[in-house]
Amino acid sequence: MTELWGVGSFAVGDRILPYPVSKDDHNRDIGSAMKAVSSLGIHEQSRALVLSMLSEAAQYWPVQIGLLITKAQFSLADASRFDAFRTAMFLKAMHYDVVLGINTDVLDGLDDLGHSYPDVFGKSPVLAARAGAYERLRDAGLSPRWWLHVGPTVAVECDQLAGAHVDGNEWQLDVADGEILLTARNPRAAVVDRLATGVRGEIVTDACACGREDPRVVPRD
Ligand SMILES: [Zn+2]
Repeated sequence: MTELWGVGSFAVGDRILPYPVSKDDHNRDIGSAMKAVSSLGIHEQSRALVLSMLSEAAQYWPVQIGLLITKAQFSLADASRFDAFRTAMFLKAMHYDVVLGINTDVLDGLDDLGHSYPDVFGKSPVLAARAGAYERLRDAGLSPRWWLHVGPTVAVECDQLAGAHVDGNEWQLDVADGEILLTARNPRAAVVDRLATGVRGEIVTDACACGREDPRVVPRD
C-alpha cells in the first residue's frame, strides 16, 4: 500500500463508515472530481458554493482541488443545520453559478431560519443536491441535479438530467435487488468490492449526450 493520505468516511443508510485513503487514491479522486466539476458546467469564470463537512474531506478536498485547477472562484460552508445561515448569507451576497453538496441538514437549518428554498437558491442555475435534499428542492419547485453519494464516491448529474455519472475508470457499478453495488477498479487502501451502498436505483451504461461515457445511476425510491 502506498502512503496514507488520511481517513475518510461515508454513509450507508444511517451508518457512518471510516475508510483509509492512500495518496494514490487521493490523486485519482482529484481526476474524478475534475470530471464532476466539468459535468456541472463549472469553468474558469464560474463561482461555486461548496457545502460539506470536515468528516467528508476525502470526497470534498478533491473537489476543491478540482475547482482550484479549473480556476473557478468558490466559497465553503458547512453542510450542517447550524451553518445554514452562512449558505443563506453567501447566496444573498453574491451570485453563484453552482451550489453543490446541498443536504437535508442545510435545508433543515434554512427551515429553522424561515427561509424558503426558492428565495435562497432560486438565482443559482445549477443546484447539485444529495439524496433527500434533491426531493425537497424539487418539491419546492426548483430543478436540482443529483449529487449522489455512492459509498466513498460521488455521482454527479450532467445537464442531460438523465442520471448521475460515476468515474467509470475508477468504479464499477452493479445492482442487486434494486441496490447499487460499488466496486473499485483499481487497488485502493480500502477494499471496495460489491459494496452495498444503500442507494436504490438503476444503472445506465449508454454513452450520454453530454459526451461522458461514464455509467450513470438513476435513483429510484
Ligand atoms: Zn452526461
